[in-house]
Amino acid sequence: MSSSFEASSSWAQAQDAADPLRIFRDEFLIPNHNDGEQIYLCGNSLGLQPRGVRDAVNAEMDYWGSLAVEGHFRGRLPWMDYHEFVRDHLAEVVGALPSEVVTMNTLSVNLHLMMVSFYRPTTERPAILIEKRAFPSDRYAVESQVRFHGFDPATDLIEIEADAADGTLSIDAIQRVLDEHGARIALVLLPGVQYLTGQVFDLRAITEIAHRKGCVVGFDLAHAVGNIPLQLHDTHCDFAVWCSYKYLNSGPGAVGGCFVHERHAQTPRPRFAGWWGHEKSTRFQMGSEFVPTVGADGWQLSNPPILSLAPLRVSLEIFHRAGMQNLRAKSQHLTAYLIWLIERELDGVLSVVTPTAPDQRGAQLSLRVHGPRDSGRALFDHLGTQHIIGDWREPDVIRIAPTPLYNRYADCRYFVDAAKQWAATR
Ligand SMILES: *Cc1c(COP(=O)(O)O)cnc(C)c1O
Repeated sequence: MSSSFEASSSWAQAQDAADPLRIFRDEFLIPNHNDGEQIYLCGNSLGLQPRGVRDAVNAEMDYWGSLAVEGHFRGRLPWMDYHEFVRDHLAEVVGALPSEVVTMNTLSVNLHLMMVSFYRPTTERPAILIEKRAFPSDRYAVESQVRFHGFDPATDLIEIEADAADGTLSIDAIQRVLDEHGARIALVLLPGVQYLTGQVFDLRAITEIAHRKGCVVGFDLAHAVGNIPLQLHDTHCDFAVWCSYKYLNSGPGAVGGCFVHERHAQTPRPRFAGWWGHEKSTRFQMGSEFVPTVGADGWQLSNPPILSLAPLRVSLEIFHRAGMQNLRAKSQHLTAYLIWLIERELDGVLSVVTPTAPDQRGAQLSLRVHGPRDSGRALFDHLGTQHIIGDWREPDVIRIAPTPLYNRYADCRYFVDAAKQWAATR
């Protein structure tokens, strides 16, 4: 594939002109930085705003103003059923049955709610398996759950260490930990895409080996949803959680999501209940007995945040039109091009930490800056002066994520030029 790339900026522009997904960039607001348009490579942290969002939110503001309580039943999209208006497109993005997904709360909250049902430790099997470099919120959540059940994180939180020199984790390492500790592990919680390295995990393989050891399997898909195509139903994992403000472009603090596999649609497992999880047809009889809705909806607590669901609805509709497979094909080509440029033109300046195998990387590339920490930081600051928005992870990593909905080949070319410019003046 690499031989098909060319280094000239005219080649990058021609790729953009021929890109069938190029029209989607116009559907997003591209922020300005001083006098120039930003080269926004930070969709892994906060996705850009789709232009349609403002009207969608304003429409609900108008219904609130003009219909007030009747907005629950009237208006174009009655609030009573609003979370259902995002369901089909969300199921499409994560490869699930519509009844297996629900939008509610935020990621860390959903993780706790899922653990209430799916982390049921016993003295024989008390442990949770996570990765050593898990996102802090996930670590705090699992640690506090272990303690909540009267167990001790010192012995009952098992962490897998990266086994490759670049900081990535092999399926063999996961297999080894499960061979050693599997019988003590109640829950395996791993990411779909690792937030520091950008490594994509094989969810199906992990689920299979963990289920063979009798463990429950959950995934944190914060960096995977809207980034790589997922097939959650076929993966057979027990549950998954995610947020919607990263690749799903649904705005700061957007409503999160949850997947519960169909085989748990009606489960005797305990759960924390609220009225919105009650079976829909009898919810408003306000009875004293909780009857859960069949499927993921049964884990809802509260009536949903309409002003937060409106952006998600607009955003998911864009994903539906673009198609996850099309986005993935462009994303893989875009990152392959960027890797090719970096290896060719920034040797000795940057190296790619993210696995370069196409099925093991998503949109994000984590780039290690050679040399002392301050020099890496200086490069990052220089990129900022060139309107490039990425993010910096101490002590020496720059994360950039060309996202296929709104980034261009020319953005990758521009990024490499800016880094070269800095390296030349060093
Ligand atoms: C972004 C992210 C979070 C953020 O959690 P919130 O509850 O949405 O604030 C948690 N875990 C991972 C792995 C993330 O990438």
